[in-house]
Amino acid sequence: MTGTLVNAGTSPVAPVEAAGSGLAVRDLKVFYGPVPAVRGVSLDCRPGEIVGVIGANGAGKTSLLSGIAGLVKTTGGSISLDGRDITRWPAHRRGQAGVVMVAERRRVFPSLSVRENLAVGGFGLDRGEVDRRVQSMLELFPRLRERERVPSFRLSGGEQRMVSIGRALVTGAQCILFDELSLGLAPRIVAELTGVLRALADEGRMIVLVEQYIGVLLRLADSVHVLERGRIRFAGPAQESAQWLEHHGYLAHAGTAAAAQEAAEART
Ligand code: ATP
Repeated sequence: MTGTLVNAGTSPVAPVEAAGSGLAVRDLKVFYGPVPAVRGVSLDCRPGEIVGVIGANGAGKTSLLSGIAGLVKTTGGSISLDGRDITRWPAHRRGQAGVVMVAERRRVFPSLSVRENLAVGGFGLDRGEVDRRVQSMLELFPRLRERERVPSFRLSGGEQRMVSIGRALVTGAQCILFDELSLGLAPRIVAELTGVLRALADEGRMIVLVEQYIGVLLRLADSVHVLERGRIRFAGPAQESAQWLEHHGYLAHAGTAAAAQEAAEART
């Protein structure tokens, strides 16, 4: 799939026009009433980069991505995209500017078929282009091709997740925020998706990736941010992070440590 995306002119997404300065998040805060979820997080994601975020349950990962996408109110800090301050923009305007979040919880329009759900991502584009991008997603997810006319409420959890990932890719967004990419997906699909994400980054897109599987994260991410209780505890290049994660108990299982190290080394 990676090959088709990049080489054969069948990319589901339009080429990125010009490399800007990317996504810059500064001292971002998200509170739910008095509950602090994100307590001053800064990160940068430049065009062509995959920034990984890891953290325990409740560390604030979803809140961070939701704050960047404008899906929850931020109570402090700033977000800029290619030098434009988007901190106060509503979610739909951020979407139009190319910032899209793929939520952990599956989000599909239940009464629409798989194909229709995917096509929603191409709203505003000409029909031929939408068909081309949708087709490309059906090739990426053969299971969806088998079920393309089925109303989405009939899909399994994993299938609905494929639909929401596919729809985000159809938008051609320049900055995609993935919350738990591999959740509910078979290893074969995850392996293909890692290829797709790398290809998207190589085309100049920005990807922020929350991922519980450290092996997947280290294989993909250029840099890793570790979130603890709403704050960045560690940030650094992927190659350095495996060691840090091991020393700080994130790789408690020996097999995980070896896999993580291998994934990090495979990148050098
Ligand atoms: P998980 O891996 O379990 O999804 P997370 O790292 O994504 O966790 P968040 O879901 O962002 O973390 O939650 C961060 C904190 O904010 C947690 O303490 C959580 O209980 C709290 N929280 C999240 N959503 C809400 C909400 N809608 N109202 C109140 N508190 C919330």
